[in-house]
Amino acid sequence: MDDGFGCRRIGLPIIILTEKQKQILSNYADREKPNESCGILLGSVDNEKIKVEKIFLTKNIEQSPVNFTISAEQRLEADKMEKKLQLKIIGIFHSHPDSMAYPSNTDKKFMELNHEVWLIFSGISKEFKAYVLEREILEIPIEIEESGL
Ligand SMILES: [Zn+2]
Repeated sequence: MDDGFGCRRIGLPIIILTEKQKQILSNYADREKPNESCGILLGSVDNEKIKVEKIFLTKNIEQSPVNFTISAEQRLEADKMEKKLQLKIIGIFHSHPDSMAYPSNTDKKFMELNHEVWLIFSGISKEFKAYVLEREILEIPIEIEESGL
């Protein structure tokens, strides 16, 4: 787990978010408290740069402060958005209202099924962190783009 920023390997992606997108996600996380909030991130991939271009705020059907599940219906909706908007599903967002922005054991299990970027917001530190699963779970850098939507 110490293979984070320190020894960033070639080939490790970065995720690009705008200030406004961060705000949309953290506001949503606040609104859904005490439960975890979740969403699907759509965007484009250019080499190692993963750019978020559309946020689909989804419902946490578990209504749990420590877990989240996106309904099959909303996942299907995201698949349709992919085609309609010509974007890719590039990430899954969720919040940890009462813990740090680090994947829980359940998250780690689901990361094996969902190979997108996992973006986590902590209600405690108010920080965003992003992870991908390669051979192990790696934290990837988040770049903030000032302009744009
Ligand atoms: Zn989690």
